[in-house]
Amino acid sequence: MLHQDNVLRAITDDGAFRVIAADTTATVRGALAAQKPPSPELSRTFADLLTGAVLVRETMAPENRLQAILQGDDPRIRMVADTYPDGATRGLIQMPDGVKAMPLGERGMLQVARTLHNGALHQGVVRVPNDATVSAALMAYMQDSEQTVTMIAVGCHMAQGEVVAAGGYMVQLLPEASEGPLMVMTERLKDFQDIVPLLARGGASPEELLQETLYGMPYTKVGDRNVHFGCNCGPDRLVLSLGSLPRADIESLMQDGKTLDIQCDYCRQTYEFTVEQLRSLLERN
Ligand SMILES: [Zn+2]
Repeated sequence: MLHQDNVLRAITDDGAFRVIAADTTATVRGALAAQKPPSPELSRTFADLLTGAVLVRETMAPENRLQAILQGDDPRIRMVADTYPDGATRGLIQMPDGVKAMPLGERGMLQVARTLHNGALHQGVVRVPNDATVSAALMAYMQDSEQTVTMIAVGCHMAQGEVVAAGGYMVQLLPEASEGPLMVMTERLKDFQDIVPLLARGGASPEELLQETLYGMPYTKVGDRNVHFGCNCGPDRLVLSLGSLPRADIESLMQDGKTLDIQCDYCRQTYEFTVEQLRSLLERN
């Protein structure tokens, strides 16, 4: 049976915390298969960014699109995670050939852009903290750019180069919270800062993550959403972007008179454009 990812949202009955827990195993597998990072280390970083983007969207913008961009110390190395309200999530890795690692601790940046209800764009950029993990970068983003105290742990467990499980959780302090529960929660989460061991022993389903993080606290589930690897590309969208090219560029694409193959950078799906289709773009311009 195919693995089905989901993301759960819950609020403690005292109104102190919001918890979001995601299983992104199949989503990460799909994105890795399309992008093929050249090392397990890069695969894990990419997985963590994808999971983090799903968690941040689910808490800040569940009904809107969110994009997270991680830039390494070397600014030529970038990873993008792009997640939509229907759960479709895709990613992109941009780096020069031969790169096997993405150091982040010196000049790494995390940029998050999300659409607001009125259609405007909210953007924030933070420096990746010294410990150089995606979890720490996400927490810094939530603190600096969204002004919320949030604890985040994302992880990916791999064996023999394959993703066994990927996921994460986010615990957010709500304005109603008082000092007491926060201290209890901070203490409790020390055991779950690294969720890879939990993923490795099969104990990190969203349901289990809620139970573990909210142990002993009454809570109510307020959302359960599907998450999957998916791309919104298609021939119509490509026609639109081709149509926005300068006339000379379209003409040069037609030069050899052959059908043009264009591949989507995110999902690697290939689309064919005949010379006739390109010509009709020129006529429309
Ligand atoms: Zn695509």
